[in-house]
Amino acid sequence: MKKLTVNAMSATYDILIEKGLLKNSAEYIKNNVKAEKLMIISDSNVAPLYLDTLKSGLLQYGFSVYSHIFTAGEKSKNLTTVSKIYDALSENEFTRKDCVIALGGGVCGDITGFVAATYMRGIDFIQIPTTLLSQVDSSVGGKTGVDTSYGKNLVGAFYQPKIVLIDPDTLDTLSEHYFADGMGEVIKYGCIKSRELFDFLKENDAKESIEEVILICLRIKRDVVSEDEREAGLRMILNFGHTLGHSIEKLSEFSLSHGECVAKGMVMISKATEKLGITKSGTTDEIIKLCEKYSLNTDICYDIDAIAESAKNDKKGSGKMLNLVVTPKIGETLIHKIDKNELAQILG
Ligand code: MG
Repeated sequence: MKKLTVNAMSATYDILIEKGLLKNSAEYIKNNVKAEKLMIISDSNVAPLYLDTLKSGLLQYGFSVYSHIFTAGEKSKNLTTVSKIYDALSENEFTRKDCVIALGGGVCGDITGFVAATYMRGIDFIQIPTTLLSQVDSSVGGKTGVDTSYGKNLVGAFYQPKIVLIDPDTLDTLSEHYFADGMGEVIKYGCIKSRELFDFLKENDAKESIEEVILICLRIKRDVVSEDEREAGLRMILNFGHTLGHSIEKLSEFSLSHGECVAKGMVMISKATEKLGITKSGTTDEIIKLCEKYSLNTDICYDIDAIAESAKNDKKGSGKMLNLVVTPKIGETLIHKIDKNELAQILG
């Protein structure tokens, strides 16, 4: 078993990675929470595959186990879904000493974490991510939240899980499309922090060494989050490709996956900063090639002005300025501040 410990300011917790971990997860849950009652939150795609396995393990350990299933997809990531889960918890008399478990991808983890942060002003929660995107990224670091009609993740909280349990076997049921989605974030880690990872992905098939790839990505994320839990500085580098990626995601009305949009966002920003002389020439081509290798389309299918306009509302901006995460070369980052109104111009 591979283990990483996150030492965030607000909490310390472990990430465990092992094939087959899902069926043995009760033991680790027992050791990390005081709850007697557990509510598993999952979606309509994941629940039929893994809910019974998780549930039966937990029942053997004497927990009272409840579940709540929502319709799979980003469109469910809103306050209506959250409200239904609050009701399910209240109906079953969950108290502050009980616990919720996120069994699913990024959407499930974000919703469940937000519920945990706010129900009775905070109850324990556990992350059991089942997609590549959530295993390498969203299940770790404590960002929770939902979308509003104005944008992604506009309502949320920083709230850390008690433990993160990663079973790479759950990736076997993932479609090619969702594997590629996760690879968008994997490639991002290479771009921002590790030339070595970037080259490894170039020269090998990530799928064949997925446990190792997950570990490398999470080690980077762990180090960043341990230093800057609340995104006061360093954590911003994890947003490489995200400012524009979020805009594209929104313009597509969430029909494009997050990882795909991050890939497009990385290429767009890298192309712009290469032109400005901030990024080493040839970098954008390298990113495009690697994205294409992992079935990520990097074509920019929306009007640049529309993308820039939407990016102005990004919550990472402050006042008139926008903080752009830039890679001067693969494996390194810097923050480039620009006036929001200049964005369209530099992208054009
Ligand atoms: Mg992301």
